[in-house]
Amino acid sequence: MTSHVLPTYNRAPIAFERGEGSWAIAADGTRYLDLGAGIAVNALGHANPDLVAALTEQAGKIWHVSNLYQIPEQERLADLLAEHTFADQVFVTNSGTEAAELAIKMVRKYWSDQGQPDRIEIVTVEGAFHGRSTGAIAAAGSEKMTKGFGPLMPGFHPIPWGDHDALMAAITDKTAAVMLEPVQGEGGIRPLPDGVLRDLRAACDKTGALLVLDEVQSGMGRTGRLFAHEWAGITPDIMMVAKGIGGGFPLGAVLATDKAAAGMIAGTHGSTYGGNPLACAVGARVMEIIADPDFLDRVNRKAGLFRQKLEGLVAAHPDVFEGVRGMGLMLGLKCKVAPADVVKAGYDQHILTVPAADNVLRILPPLNITDAEITEAALRLDKAASSLA
Ligand SMILES: *Cc1c(COP(=O)(O)O)cnc(C)c1O
Repeated sequence: MTSHVLPTYNRAPIAFERGEGSWAIAADGTRYLDLGAGIAVNALGHANPDLVAALTEQAGKIWHVSNLYQIPEQERLADLLAEHTFADQVFVTNSGTEAAELAIKMVRKYWSDQGQPDRIEIVTVEGAFHGRSTGAIAAAGSEKMTKGFGPLMPGFHPIPWGDHDALMAAITDKTAAVMLEPVQGEGGIRPLPDGVLRDLRAACDKTGALLVLDEVQSGMGRTGRLFAHEWAGITPDIMMVAKGIGGGFPLGAVLATDKAAAGMIAGTHGSTYGGNPLACAVGARVMEIIADPDFLDRVNRKAGLFRQKLEGLVAAHPDVFEGVRGMGLMLGLKCKVAPADVVKAGYDQHILTVPAADNVLRILPPLNITDAEITEAALRLDKAASSLA
């Protein structure tokens, strides 16, 4: 049968009918241990009872309200985000891409309002991923995403990954902003060292450039802190959030300081769906659960356990794996074989993982995965690796 779905994805021949916590269940009842979590989206697992309750309760009241009116659920989500982060202001979106678009617009508006409308250069890092809109692909700049889609939006200045001297040297009095992921996700689970993040903050303070962090994948407890930049003890001026914040319901946000957001007055930006009551009711519940320090303590403990198991796998399969990287439950296994082959071998063991660039296998389980499931995951990955030998 021919599919009428635009074939922009290489899809595995598996379809899931329902989910339970860390498990995705196919129509024939086969249970797959889900270490991809919809690419860091199902942060609290599938069919989480608290989130089902938040969604269905709201669904019985009102689904959609235009942003022409007050939306109390949106106010509540914004209050929670402001309470737990650097942010003064929040704009709610439906996705990470939309958050990236607004972040870029906010930077341009800021400098325009400062009387420097030509100050548009945004320093980025190669291997980045900010989404698939025309702006976001220009920001990331990789040929894989941009080829055939030119001319690209101007103003982005990508620096090779790992060249921290070049990164610092690129930040001058002409730089509008620095925009990057504290831990690259698609790029291969590559954390920026804390010292580099601190140097970036200092360079931005010195030149006036805005620091824009993309925490779409690394945020919402994924690294063991609510947001990854907290490990470095710095704060950004603008931050993009999505993926985990909706726990599976489409939701994103841009967080900003009053200073960075000052130009975004009535009429400068908008979204029909962004901030609708359904998404915000779920997002607020996700925030309440993940921002709890006890929850984050548990994430860190589980991360230690998972990491130890993965180190064991690397030792047991030196021909398949090279090492473990990442922070918290944003983990990567650097492979000596094609990570897509490990993903495929995983399907046979009924375990879901996600490939990334830089020959890395991504492991992004639900943050509430149990210890027993972590042990089970290691067993299944061990079998998958053995099948490749
Ligand atoms: C997934 C991702 C995006 C894009 O988010 P969408 O919701 O797919 O639009 C942006 N930045 C990072 C770091 C991501 O991982």
